[in-house]
Amino acid sequence: MSTRQHPQTSVPPEALHKWLSILVCALHSVYFLLNMLLMQKIGLGAVQIIVAAFSGYCFYSSLKERYQPWQSYTLMALLTFNILASASLMEFWAGAIFWSLALPLWYYNLFGLKKGFCFSAMIVMFSAAILYLRTDTSLFMPYRTVFNFTLAYSSVWLMCHIYEVQRQKTSLFLRALALQDALTGVQNRHALKADFSAVRKKAESIHMLIIDVDHFKTINDKFGHDIGDSVLIKVANEIKQSIQGLSVYRLGGEEFVVLLKGISDIQAYEQAEVIRKTIEQATFHSHTDAITLTVSIGISSLQPGQEFTDFLRAADVKLYQAKHEGRNQIRN
Ligand code: GH3
Ligand code: MG
Ligand code: MG
Repeated sequence: MSTRQHPQTSVPPEALHKWLSILVCALHSVYFLLNMLLMQKIGLGAVQIIVAAFSGYCFYSSLKERYQPWQSYTLMALLTFNILASASLMEFWAGAIFWSLALPLWYYNLFGLKKGFCFSAMIVMFSAAILYLRTDTSLFMPYRTVFNFTLAYSSVWLMCHIYEVQRQKTSLFLRALALQDALTGVQNRHALKADFSAVRKKAESIHMLIIDVDHFKTINDKFGHDIGDSVLIKVANEIKQSIQGLSVYRLGGEEFVVLLKGISDIQAYEQAEVIRKTIEQATFHSHTDAITLTVSIGISSLQPGQEFTDFLRAADVKLYQAKHEGRNQIRN
């Protein structure tokens, strides 16, 4: 779910935005001075100072932690426009076109893979077109500048792309490590907490089922810890199959949780009964024996204003009742 906290593998956009606004502000201030004092280009100088003021404002907002993504888009649009306009209109030998080579780095880091790719592709086409129109077309070997520029640009672009793809893979891998239970492959307690926060914003009613394997210690004692582990993996899979598409979370040990959204108390009980029966009817295996198991289930229904820990505790109290009253049963 999108609201989950997960490990960052790139510089956060708000931090990059801060550096981008400093860069754009510094660049435009310098060019403003050059245009006004040395070249007397008043119109161009006026545009430069407006952009410098806007980027100063963006820097100030990021210092105040009021970063908005549209500011990054605007800054990059202004920077890009400035580079392309300078390369098209100013003296070509001044070399404004070189700045294009830095753009893919900013696009990929600020806007991600897809937009990074599209924006970089647009810039190589515009820059090559500008070079084509403004360079050595009449010489013995025409278009060498276009050719060299495009190769240099493409190598920067390629590296940005490769690194972004790898970053996304690493990010997914770390996310799985952080939110998945290593033994059973279902989600873990961190994921449960994060998903609960996300779900409670949307769903009208939420029920929590805590499912605890009965007398699990005797499985370990009788068949060993390894068989105990394989039984836990199968229990997790059986629960997953019986709830069709919902997430299962391993709370720890032999305890699992299921969150149910937007259903009544009766429906939550019926869902718990499906899980209880599925486990009761399943056969688990040691090397030599067939093992049967039961589970006890406690259900809590989220009360207005209730926090995660109280919601969990309420389900745990019901689970304790189910255990106390004989196991292999459900309490709500
Ligand atoms: P009850 O019916 O009251 O729940 O009894 P129980 O034996 O299931 O509960 P108890 O809390 O006494 O024991 C839980 C056992 O689960 C003890 C612990 O060794 C075992 N356990 C916890 N985590 C793991 C694990 O990752 N793998 C294995 N194999 N066993 C585990
Ligand atoms: Mg148990
Ligand atoms: Mg337990």
